[in-house]
Amino acid sequence: MLNKSLDSNIQAANDAMPAGKPVTNPLPPLQDRHGRTFDYVRIAVIEQCNLRCTYCMPEEGVQFKEKDMVLSTDEILRTVELLARMGVRKVRFTGGEPLVRPDIVDIVARTVATPGVKAAHLTTNGLLFPKYAKALREAGLHGVNISLDSLDEGKFEEITRRSGLNKVLESIDLAVELGFPRVKINVVLMRGFNEDELIDFCELTKDKPITVRFIEFMPFDAHQIWESGQHFASAADLCGQIERRYPGITTASGTRTEHHIYQAPGYAGKIAVIPAFTRSLCGNCSRIRVTADGNIMNCLYSEQPYHLKDLMRQGASDDDIVALFRQAYDEKYKDGFEAKKAASIAAKINVSDINRSRASMTQIGG
Ligand code: SF4
Repeated sequence: MLNKSLDSNIQAANDAMPAGKPVTNPLPPLQDRHGRTFDYVRIAVIEQCNLRCTYCMPEEGVQFKEKDMVLSTDEILRTVELLARMGVRKVRFTGGEPLVRPDIVDIVARTVATPGVKAAHLTTNGLLFPKYAKALREAGLHGVNISLDSLDEGKFEEITRRSGLNKVLESIDLAVELGFPRVKINVVLMRGFNEDELIDFCELTKDKPITVRFIEFMPFDAHQIWESGQHFASAADLCGQIERRYPGITTASGTRTEHHIYQAPGYAGKIAVIPAFTRSLCGNCSRIRVTADGNIMNCLYSEQPYHLKDLMRQGASDDDIVALFRQAYDEKYKDGFEAKKAASIAAKINVSDINRSRASMTQIGG
């Protein structure tokens, strides 16, 4: 398997970000006891979604948080402002489906205008993107990740339980056309389902300046298909298939998450493989997660929430909120395995505050 030094990868990615307005009152960076610095936040702005993907939630959906239980616009922007003072430079909005939230364009514009923020990104399923694309670009959105798990109409409907493949494909081309500096496709790669489309997806990078990212399947599917144990394909396996198909393929620059990233000879775009379940990328973790209902999650596999929204609604000061983030990352485990182990132990001894209600990725924010 080809590997390129991660530092030059990350440096190249950071250099590519716009400058952003300088922070006037900086705070010490957010770090953990394992020497990692956290400069990237993923904020889920809603749990609702207009799709019902089988690797995320059942047809009937999940117990979605009501509007008043979800972070308000001002609470989101206050979070962004404080994190930017602590060195966060990249903000990603996720969901559910963030374009379902009516004020998403305003949230993006105010985030881009926040001192310290270099780039705002969004992860969408692409169905509503044509409606908001121009406004998001004008608001200064830097990157769009579009989730797409099959190029076959029938399989698209089987996995999302909705129609709309052509709309999503149209959104990918529109994002390139409108000049978003970062356009990526997120593909959850599942054995026995879309693994046979691996090369078809790679071929999308031949003429399009996009990054196709294959993400390992993860156990956040509301107990639907993961437990069958039949659908996991490892990053190592996928990398092997890609390297065999494209002799002479080289490594390329990408983000910390894009642990394995390539460019096929003469191709305009890049191919990345993300070991989200293998968790071989934890040593370089830089992610902060805030769920739609306003909890800080210091790891995808952690079940220990830190109650940001409650603290804000109790009238907490900026210092109190900063202290909560520092506590959350001071208590972060070295990797997703330890976080998962701690969660299982907590579940066994039935620690009350551990919320096991986040069985679906839409309740974590991806
Ligand atoms: S599993 Fe946890 S520690 Fe590892 S990269 Fe993901 S969020 Fe970071």
